[in-house]
Amino acid sequence: MTTTAQLLLGGARRGSATGRTFEVVEPGTGAVMAEVAEAGPEDVGLGVSLAARAFEEGRWPRLSATERGRVLLRAAELVRGQLEDLAVLEARGAGKPIRDARGEIALVAEVLEYWGGAANKIVGETVPVQDPGLDVTLREPVGVCAAITPWNFPMVIASWKVAPALACGNTVVVKPASYAPLSVLRLGEVLIEAGVPGDALSILPGPGGSTGAALVADPRVAKVSFTGSTEVGAQVMATAASNITRVSLELGGKSAGIVFADADLDAAARGSVAAAFANCGQDCCARSRILVQRPIYDDFVQQLAKCASELRVGRPLDEGTDIGPLISDAQRRRALDYLEVARNEGARTVEGGDVPEVPGGEHGFYLRPTLLADVDNSWRVAQEEIFGPVACVIPFGDEEDAVRLANDVPYGLSGSVWTRDLGRAIRVARAMRTGNISVNSSHSVHTEAPFGGYKRSGIGREMGLHAVDLYTEIKNVFFSEE
Ligand code: NAD
Repeated sequence: MTTTAQLLLGGARRGSATGRTFEVVEPGTGAVMAEVAEAGPEDVGLGVSLAARAFEEGRWPRLSATERGRVLLRAAELVRGQLEDLAVLEARGAGKPIRDARGEIALVAEVLEYWGGAANKIVGETVPVQDPGLDVTLREPVGVCAAITPWNFPMVIASWKVAPALACGNTVVVKPASYAPLSVLRLGEVLIEAGVPGDALSILPGPGGSTGAALVADPRVAKVSFTGSTEVGAQVMATAASNITRVSLELGGKSAGIVFADADLDAAARGSVAAAFANCGQDCCARSRILVQRPIYDDFVQQLAKCASELRVGRPLDEGTDIGPLISDAQRRRALDYLEVARNEGARTVEGGDVPEVPGGEHGFYLRPTLLADVDNSWRVAQEEIFGPVACVIPFGDEEDAVRLANDVPYGLSGSVWTRDLGRAIRVARAMRTGNISVNSSHSVHTEAPFGGYKRSGIGREMGLHAVDLYTEIKNVFFSEE
């Protein structure tokens, strides 16, 4: 059934000024799931005006931090209360296996809860200056924050931006990705129901090149928090530069999982497959390069292939599904094109590579998880972000070789090291030029810990209390004693 989703603007759901809409397609079926109001420049202007006034004169920045925290805690409970409903929406809208979608919605509640608890713990410092007096720093909100979000973890990534921005006392305008805006609209509704004033938070879906660009270019926007591709991130940064708008960027990745011969190989195989193919490989943290030490290389490739072959590709709402569809036919085409490139470069396909038959999902955008072995790190398939269920296996010699290969990409977001040697784990974790490393684990993201990229993977750290730096200005105040 097709539904119509309106903008969330000024605390109410309403159509866009132009009356234009766009279609959201369900990746699992290829069918239109919703018509969504398309915010144009006029709607963006109104959303920013409301947010600017709300920041200058409104209630939200003037509430005590404790009150703001309570609102976020209420929002966390509201999300928990409708977890199944939101999980189904996310599973359908973004093509996620329902079990993963439940985990993501639970994570959204956790993020809201974290920032609800953190709001009144954001504190300044006293500084031992030489002049007689007292020097203190104040953490103040930045102003109107624009959050521009991708489609791969729609509600989770929106919560990573909106929750800390609101906790710090900012007002926010969100531009969700056009492929999957529905759950982000619901997040906005939940926050408003919990007590965020309507003018302090708008959710405005629309095309990136017009709606997103208009938001970034608006001089009243004090801060842009962007998650998406490196190419668009560069454009956002360039536009923001003309107004000296603060920017943080979470961008692409081509992360490595390094498997040493001394690792627990069962755990390493399972973990590497999960880290490469979860969310159908549409994960900025995907360890899409699996570096394997030569003595175990052949056996381990077999082990990886076996684990990958056991993943059940299926419809998002089927409880048994491990891997759902890609977000769109275009994204699947892109992955298939890379497989062609890889074969021409000399890669050996050891698992997957084909479009599976999914009963009831004949028009969905499925692709079997694909493992390419004997890849050279210099090949395109090892250097470029594919953002699909395609992983390369690359052999290496010693520790130094592994670190060199892991670092030899333009990105630096994530990574794993699998070894039983603690000293080696410490050395390799230190040497990898990447923002997040997991040792003997495929998990990169923790609500309480900083997350972000080196090199072309971005600027700034979300999550944990490090995110306070993104959403506050520091004011220094000196009180003279004389
Ligand atoms: P994208 O760059 O195409 O779009 C991201 C967002 O930017 C969307 O809302 C889009 O509409 C908007 N946008 C597009 N052009 C714009 C413009 N000119 N001005 C302003 N906004 C614009 O990315 P995507 O395809 O939605 O997401 C996939 C990418 O996101 C991958 O590269 C992935 O690695 C990256 N990503 C990074 C992280 C991270 O935390 N580092 C997390 C998730 C996804």
